[in-house]
Amino acid sequence: MTNILISGGSVAGPTLAYWLRRHGFTPTVVERAPSLRDGGYKIDIRGAALGVVERMGLADEVRRHGTDMRIARFVDADGRQKATMSAQLFGGREGDDVEIMRGDLAGILYAATKDDVEYIFDDSITALEETPGGVRVTFENAPPRTFDLVVGADGLHSNVRALAFGEETPFIHHLGHYISIFTVPNHLGLDRTEVMHPAPGRSVGMYSTRSAADAKALFLFSSPPLAYDRRDVAQQKKLLSEIFAGQGWEVPRLLDAMADAPDFYLDSISQVRMDRWSSGRVVLVGDAAYGPSPASGQGTSLALVGAYVLAGSLAAAAGDHRAAFAAYESDMRHFAEENQKLAESNLKGMVLKSAGQIRFQMFMLRLMPHLPGKNAMIKRVTEPIRKAATAITLKDYRS
Ligand SMILES: Cc1cc2nc3c(=O)[nH]c(=O)nc-3n(C[C@H](O)[C@H](O)[C@H](O)COP(=O)(O)OP(=O)(O)OC[C@H]3O[C@@H](n4cnc5c(N)ncnc54)[C@H](O)[C@@H]3O)c2cc1C
Repeated sequence: MTNILISGGSVAGPTLAYWLRRHGFTPTVVERAPSLRDGGYKIDIRGAALGVVERMGLADEVRRHGTDMRIARFVDADGRQKATMSAQLFGGREGDDVEIMRGDLAGILYAATKDDVEYIFDDSITALEETPGGVRVTFENAPPRTFDLVVGADGLHSNVRALAFGEETPFIHHLGHYISIFTVPNHLGLDRTEVMHPAPGRSVGMYSTRSAADAKALFLFSSPPLAYDRRDVAQQKKLLSEIFAGQGWEVPRLLDAMADAPDFYLDSISQVRMDRWSSGRVVLVGDAAYGPSPASGQGTSLALVGAYVLAGSLAAAAGDHRAAFAAYESDMRHFAEENQKLAESNLKGMVLKSAGQIRFQMFMLRLMPHLPGKNAMIKRVTEPIRKAATAITLKDYRS
């Protein structure tokens, strides 16, 4: 039996642990947060990723937690409605695609694994030392242990990637924008509604999902790479306040509420691009290896599918990690690249450069329901996403 350490207990980590367990391996998950991180934003599960969730027997539960968003409304600086869009189309979803809060998905995946997978919370790997028979791992808190393999499922700024491949700069590609999201009181009384206020180079939104008492504020802005301390939340809040100073609609109120937000998040919209995802006995999965950026809407689906393929490849290779990592890369790379391609074109519609472009976008949204070719136009939006989301066929691996 192979002992496998997974760093990161969000989406890719627990999914990998689930499938490794099913294939007879012994996974251990180390998560830096003191307990399961239940906060977060809306994420989508589409295409092949839905197949993974179905094979885990979790599809019904995931659907029960769907956000059930109804509509996206676009408003100007005075809050006047300029256009609307169905929530499905706004999220680029069709058919069976599910939108769920990241924290709800993480909770479902954790519940499906916690009884037969060892979870170590509030800890992090400090060093990896590869030996002929395994990897000796040192932790911040727990005593050192040796594992057969180590997997980095620890996100965009992966710790395992830094330890095994070096610092992140060569791997992280900034797509020219930043995103911030945090919980705010639902002072607009939104019910399964998303409201967006686009301004040149900066868009602000607020949404509330099914059964949520509060709302999320979303800030997007164009910017070259900014210098700030990723651990200094106060500095990041100040930065966001400065960038959005003077913007209309509910922006001043949302920025005021930011002071009390328990889950403030700010990061660049960036992709992880690497020539290879493994080094010796260490391998990466999910955002750590091929994070497509929030703008692609496909990070979660890539994490789910990547975890399934990696675990299956290890089972198919009977634990021969070299053969397994090679198979994992060759089966996943095309799928990862196709989904990464979505991000830059999505971003063009998410943050518009000028007032004229915004007026044109609002005009087209108002006109669309009345156009004879509207179905073809909708397909032009959803088809590239559908194609990317299904650009892999799930294999049946032996268990
Ligand atoms: C604002 C925002 C909006 C998004 N919107 C969408 C969307 O609409 N659709 C979509 O599909 N995706 C979206 N995503 C992306 C999606 O959340 C990720 O692609 C997905 O969660 C990837 O899962 P992961 O498990 O690889 O990484 P993550 O979810 O980032 O999880 C990494 C885990 O590793 C842990 N960790 C970090 N460092 C360490 C360490 N040193 N030791 C131990 N553990 C560690 C973290 O605490 C975390 O639990 C969005 C992301 C953001 C930030």
